[in-house]
Amino acid sequence: MNAATQTGQRPDAGLLAIADVVAAQARYFRGNFTKPLEFRIGQLLKLKSMLQANEAALQAAIQADFGKQAFDTFLTEFHVIYDELEAALAGVREWARTRTVDANLLNARAKSYILPEPLGVSLVIGPWNYPYQLSLCPVMAAMAAGCTIILKPSELTVHSSSLLAQLIRANFPAEYFAVVEGGVPETTELLARKFDMIFFTGSVPVGRIVYQAAARHLTPVVLELGGKSPVIITPDVDLDEAMRRLVWAKFLNSGQTCIAPDYVLVHKSVEARLLERLEKELARVDYSLENGNYVRIVNERNVLRIVELIDPEKLLLGGGYDLQERWIQPTVLKGVEWTDRVMQDEIFGPLLPVLVYEDLDAAISEIKARPKPLALYLFTNDEATKQKVLSEVSFGGGCVNDALMHISNGNLPFGGVGDSGIGNYHGEAGFRAFSHYKSILEKDMVPDPDLKYSPHTSEKLAVLRQLTAG
Ligand code: NAD
Repeated sequence: MNAATQTGQRPDAGLLAIADVVAAQARYFRGNFTKPLEFRIGQLLKLKSMLQANEAALQAAIQADFGKQAFDTFLTEFHVIYDELEAALAGVREWARTRTVDANLLNARAKSYILPEPLGVSLVIGPWNYPYQLSLCPVMAAMAAGCTIILKPSELTVHSSSLLAQLIRANFPAEYFAVVEGGVPETTELLARKFDMIFFTGSVPVGRIVYQAAARHLTPVVLELGGKSPVIITPDVDLDEAMRRLVWAKFLNSGQTCIAPDYVLVHKSVEARLLERLEKELARVDYSLENGNYVRIVNERNVLRIVELIDPEKLLLGGGYDLQERWIQPTVLKGVEWTDRVMQDEIFGPLLPVLVYEDLDAAISEIKARPKPLALYLFTNDEATKQKVLSEVSFGGGCVNDALMHISNGNLPFGGVGDSGIGNYHGEAGFRAFSHYKSILEKDMVPDPDLKYSPHTSEKLAVLRQLTAG
């Protein structure tokens, strides 16, 4: 695919190669067009109208990509996007406001304030698993902050990515908001350029590639990566309710969710009851091949990768699959050990390994010995256990007595830590990610006390000591 034919197809932008789009955006940004709040709000409103007018077609494109139905698409894509849009529209004036801060004694007569400013030309690289939400939420944060944007959506969801690209090209000039479609070659070419900010969502190995490329230009990044997110279940919880929440969260999108519960750690005393409730809940929900509501795996390569993780000796429920249909039955593995293959990498599919623990400290140590998870879910009624897990384990974010739902509250910054990511977004956190906070100290020309100027007498030092905190 030639990138030159993929970018800037609006007549006013011409047919631009990647280097030309980056240069055009840099010029546009330097022209200060994106900075007025009216401009930013206008672009957010334009995006909102574009989405509202094309919601049905966008939904159909996701369905064509991996069989996702309207309800799930609205819940996991449009609901999150519209919430973020409204939060940005309502919040951007406040977020962009100049903030005055107190002066220290040495600067008592000066004004001190912080001016948020847009970082500049931003690159947003999206994954395939929630192709709209995970591309457009960073885009909206960039718009609110006053950046220009080049979006590189995933090449794996061809229908969603190409419709999104067409709509963006029809509504926005490429010097402000452009889309580059393509895979590794196009992304590699993009990454060779200098951006003022790169926002990447995807896997840990590609995150490393992006970070290295950004380092060459000293470009700040947000990396939204993945990992194995544990679920801890203590003996005192209502297992019926816990399994209702867990099954929904695990098998939503067929487990292809960055913050999907990856594995369960259940106290040994309730393992049998938990497995029984899990079976009951899986029987209640229709995840069959015939039911069009159960999302397909994105491609055959991933079907094969996931089914290879099923150890027949540990298979308790499910295990069926259809390669052509890209369907994998919800599958539960029992008696799983930390050393098993399924416990080595993020599953990103509908397999749920169940491990048991007897000593919570030992379970916590096992989690802490591994890369810091993107999410952690704790089901417990015990306050001390809650405090212990929340304070002792480092992870991106999570829920107590639920799973996934923390991502749906835009007031909670969303992001990973350690191997699961760098930085965060949603709401004001997204605005901050695309902004620089410029600190200004402003003085009148008179008076200007003589304290810091030569000669440096012992009297002046005594005054300086008095003005020094502590
Ligand atoms: P991916 O890393 O394979 O691809 C992500 C993007 O990077 C795509 O746009 C792709 O074209 C590009 N890319 C792929 N290989 C590249 C290379 N060698 N050089 C440059 N660019 C390259 O990820 P994916 O399969 O689309 O998504 C699944 C992964 O993303 C999972 O690990 C999941 O946990 C993670 N994820 C994280 C979040 C989050 O918010 N933290 C959200 C969704 C997915």
